[in-house]
Amino acid sequence: MLKSILSPKTCAACKNCCVFRPESAWEMPTFSKAAIDRLPEGYPIQPDGDRYRIMLSYGAEDAARPCPFLDSQTGCTLPPEEKPFACGIWPIRVMPDSDGKPALTLYQGCDGLPDADAPALHALLDSGLRLRILKAAEQDPTLIVPYHPNYRYL
Ligand code: SF4
Ligand code: SF4
Repeated sequence: MLKSILSPKTCAACKNCCVFRPESAWEMPTFSKAAIDRLPEGYPIQPDGDRYRIMLSYGAEDAARPCPFLDSQTGCTLPPEEKPFACGIWPIRVMPDSDGKPALTLYQGCDGLPDADAPALHALLDSGLRLRILKAAEQDPTLIVPYHPNYRYL
């Protein structure tokens, strides 16, 4: 997550964005092969292009399941260098614009987020983050997800 615009304390208390319903399990972040090889064995993984996604297993009673790296008390247990890029840039995601080109969007689904017009957010994007994210999306198409109305284009 981008700590300069989103409070780690707020997210650690909420954790909602690291919990996935069965219909949104495809939103689990993906890992490179090298990152998967560094994980302990035993995680069920499925390839997605050149990337790998950990599969969540749902019981009949499960409305949602947490990411296996989420600790209910402390939040994400992955060290920063192993955290998927998509998690590192949260609450920003990449979605197609009206011409189908990758564009940055900001999650709007909770009160802890900055306004899409916030100067601090745009200063961060203009400091090189926008280009870095778009370059990463060129190399990893799993970062580009379908448009959802809970997001606003930046
Ligand atoms: S972004 Fe909002 S909804 Fe998501 S974990 Fe943080 S506080 Fe919760
Ligand atoms: S890897 Fe960490 S930040 Fe990303 S979804 Fe899992 S628990 Fe959340």
